[in-house]
Amino acid sequence: MTTEKQRLQGRSAAHYFDDGPASARLQTTVALTARTLGFPTAMINILDTTTRHTINLIGAGGGVPLAREEVLCDVVVNSGRPLEVPDARADPRFADLPSVVRGEIGCYIGVPLAGRESFIVGALCVIDPRPHDIDPDVANRLMEFGRIVEDQLDLVRRLDEQRIDGELAVAELAEAIAQEQIVPWYQPIVDLPSGRTVGFEALARWQHPSGEMHDPRRFVPLAEDTDLIVDLDLLVMRRAVADLRRWQEINPDLRVNVNLSSRHFNIDESAAAINDAVLKAGVSPEAVDLEITETTRLNPVRAAQVLGELREAGFGVWLDDFGTGWSALDYLLRLPVSGVKIDRAVSIALGSRLGNALTRAVTGLASELQLVTTIEGIEKPEHAALAYELGCNYAQGYLWSPPQPAGAVDDALNTPGPTHRA
Ligand code: C2E
Ligand code: MG
Ligand code: MG
Repeated sequence: MTTEKQRLQGRSAAHYFDDGPASARLQTTVALTARTLGFPTAMINILDTTTRHTINLIGAGGGVPLAREEVLCDVVVNSGRPLEVPDARADPRFADLPSVVRGEIGCYIGVPLAGRESFIVGALCVIDPRPHDIDPDVANRLMEFGRIVEDQLDLVRRLDEQRIDGELAVAELAEAIAQEQIVPWYQPIVDLPSGRTVGFEALARWQHPSGEMHDPRRFVPLAEDTDLIVDLDLLVMRRAVADLRRWQEINPDLRVNVNLSSRHFNIDESAAAINDAVLKAGVSPEAVDLEITETTRLNPVRAAQVLGELREAGFGVWLDDFGTGWSALDYLLRLPVSGVKIDRAVSIALGSRLGNALTRAVTGLASELQLVTTIEGIEKPEHAALAYELGCNYAQGYLWSPPQPAGAVDDALNTPGPTHRA
């Protein structure tokens, strides 16, 4: 019968069946154990509820899965103590085991291996087909090797858990996109210095079933690692243009900015998919600015082609997070860009010589190239004034508003006042 302890032990054992990089280290340790102790065979055996699995083996012996009752390591795991058997054939507990009868096991020493949950998950053992006396020092040395193997098994276990966590997270995010749990929140973009709202940036938020609202730092990087970001961007875009359509009934000049990962450029027909999403909502592409976010993996040739089509269709194309990487300068030259967003890393330095010089350099470059600029992350009125003096056209930041749900924008637009009406 399987006890609860055995069941948990079996579940812990499953973590260690790994062929990854850590198993090469285990192999080295097992080889060193056999050589140092002068035994022809050494192995790491992991035992689940019913079966012995050999995960590393040096020397002779099949290492095929065997029933627990047939192996000496079963005694080690059950007792949690080392086992020394100088002559298995002469030991009534083991004399009838098939491997002993076949002459594969004469002398055996095994030490228990604890997993991190402190269950004994298996044994490290050395075997000699010839029976012989066991030097006490040999058993102690095997214990020391056992500690090393435990550390290495812990690494295997952690790698395994990370892989499972990663796969689960991707599956959960895919489900969240399919269920439309990801929605845009909106942050106003204001004209400097009038402070009038000219549009909104749509920023993804995940309404997690746990009730928590996750911000994009929690899930956009994971989405960026897969093509999920493409579906995520299109979901946010569809929702954003539907909201814009409603808001334009109150203020027809309002615009919306959506973030677009460079992953779109590796996909055929991505310009058509973006264009379709906007036209279906009854919004003109002229009212939509695409912010190119993640440029590290951008293929400039493909990007120039797709963005060229989108500019042709009327979309604005902005380089996001400008000032955080020098490669962006190269993209300015190669991509059909209409504006740049100056990153918060620059705006927080406003007022210092370097911050002012950087801002002036970017706005100077932009105006040479007939581009417009938006500065992000403005929190103080004096920084807004300075940004305007230094040549920025638009700004965003907590000074005006943090990102808010669509309903808050509806409320503001339906409340008569100067802020949101052009
Ligand atoms: P971003 O596009 O550069 O957006 C600006 C970020 O700065 C937003 O963070 C916004 O909430 C934050 N922010 C704005 N004003 C201030 C301020 O005054 N102070 C401070 N401390 N922060 C301010 P958020 O919403 O967390 O978005 C982070 C990033 O995630 C975005 O940076 C963008 O790169 C990415 N992201 C968001 N939504 C999407 C999406 O739908 N698609 C893609 N591909 N990326 C997205
Ligand atoms: Mg952005
Ligand atoms: Mg940005």
